[in-house]
Amino acid sequence: MSGESIGEYVISMRRHFHENPELSFRETNTIKTIKNELEKIGLQVHEVRDGGLYADINGIEGGKSVAIRADMDALPVVEATNLPFKSRNSGVMHACGHDAHVAMLLGLARRALEMKSQFRGTIRLLFQVAEEQPPGGAVNLIKAGALNGMDYVLGQHVMSTLDAGTVAIFHREAMANADEFRVRITGKGGHGSAPHETVDVLVVAAQFVIQAQTVVSRMIDPFLPSVVTFGTFNSGFRYNIIASSAELTGTVRTFHKDVREKVRKELENLLSHISSAYGTECRFEYIEGYPTVINTPEVSEVVDSVASEYLGKENVLHPNPSMGGEDFAYYLHEVPGAFYFLGVGNTKKGITSPQHSPTYDLDEDALSSGVEILLGSAIRLISGSG
Ligand code: MN
Repeated sequence: MSGESIGEYVISMRRHFHENPELSFRETNTIKTIKNELEKIGLQVHEVRDGGLYADINGIEGGKSVAIRADMDALPVVEATNLPFKSRNSGVMHACGHDAHVAMLLGLARRALEMKSQFRGTIRLLFQVAEEQPPGGAVNLIKAGALNGMDYVLGQHVMSTLDAGTVAIFHREAMANADEFRVRITGKGGHGSAPHETVDVLVVAAQFVIQAQTVVSRMIDPFLPSVVTFGTFNSGFRYNIIASSAELTGTVRTFHKDVREKVRKELENLLSHISSAYGTECRFEYIEGYPTVINTPEVSEVVDSVASEYLGKENVLHPNPSMGGEDFAYYLHEVPGAFYFLGVGNTKKGITSPQHSPTYDLDEDALSSGVEILLGSAIRLISGSG
């Protein structure tokens, strides 16, 4: 380790991954580097096709076991920062901070090895591919047995909208059901001067977009969160021609199963009635994405108290859940655990761009506390101390 501190190591690895980002399910070099780093410190690595890799660190015999997950994929974003370690893979960028997730888990591995005579139990490092691309890599890791024998699972995500030196912890719901819908409406095109001879789908599609706003505002219990967003609307190709088809896509975010079902049913119902009122044909397709991330309170309480000791109680925040989606949800279907946010924003340093933006950056000084909070929580869970 040549005199390099864990903190310095984490930063240098983060920069390496930042400079060499890879898209979901194509993380070949990232996997190679992780594997190499783990083997260098004597760990035995298990590779999982389209899942990633995992390795165990054993403390003193006895104790429990915890899996810690880091996702590793980048996004199809053209990086617009001036960082000296800016992406060299054009059109691909670590704009969600997964570079830091991998670097922190590698740093944690070194730190846990240094301490392995001081804790009981097993820490399993899960390096996961393809969080950004449903169906995601988590399901494949789970299918391959990466959670077998685990008592708990932990996940930490960097968040640039939170200040460095803070964490955000959720004691139940952390992230939402994130679904997709696709709509196709077909009618009868024609001359813009003679609408009565056509069935104008553009007008019908516009009605649907407006009416769909009433699903959340008029049909869902206001105490149960839901979002309906249209992301695309494509119809027509010339100013004086009535369009004969329209294609729309959007996303639905919810927390509860019955709300998810109701939003889906009401959207479909509105579409089919509006469509038949005007005499168009329609198709509604609903694709369920990642389910809700629901933490186990006993586990999130442990993270809460470790983070409070490390950062001070006033820096442990408890905001409303995020309406974003995460395939960490699948791990929580298998074992109790918690997912939380590590603040990496810093207004003084000009680090303010949101997650997924082309100018995304993070305050690297926050990363060593990320390692400590994650490791401290893991050890407390498995050893009952640390
Ligand atoms: Mn992410």
